[in-house]
Amino acid sequence: MPECPICYSSARNEVKEFSFTKYDCPPCGPWMVRLDEDLLTQIFAQWNAAESVRKRSRLSYILRRGQPGPTKLAEMPTDFDKSWHLEEPLPAPSEQLDQLIILVGQNQPSPTEYADLTAPAVAAWIGTIITRDPPNAGLHWSLEQKKTNELLERSAQNDSQLLRLKMAGWLRSEN
Ligand SMILES: [Zn+2]
Repeated sequence: MPECPICYSSARNEVKEFSFTKYDCPPCGPWMVRLDEDLLTQIFAQWNAAESVRKRSRLSYILRRGQPGPTKLAEMPTDFDKSWHLEEPLPAPSEQLDQLIILVGQNQPSPTEYADLTAPAVAAWIGTIITRDPPNAGLHWSLEQKKTNELLERSAQNDSQLLRLKMAGWLRSEN
């Protein structure tokens, strides 16, 4: 399986050509950049280890947030490091929780039914740091917190996260 060079997830497909790199991976979604992959990985290699995981997490977050719809894909500008301000911090845990509550509420068919969301997509959407082993550790940490469990309930099945808001979660999402 090809690996997304940003988040190291197994990607559904990849296209490597002279002038562009294109992947479709579970956290980032379908994305492309008009750079060949060697050049892209050279840019990533200039970052030190801690900086690399933070900046790649920001990239994955921005790409997931910027998904334009089913038939299109998110495009990274070639000067992504500067123009996307990768040095800025990821959302704080409290902001991640707010975004999680909004996402779940928007994806529930009704208050009694669960939103069917995948862990990698949710982890990138709320802006957690990329972890390889175990993957999605930031999301799972958030879901284990007492505060989170006051707001939503979960029924986890494999990669699929079935989540629904409790009344406290609905009240919070309306504020
Ligand atoms: Zn990715």
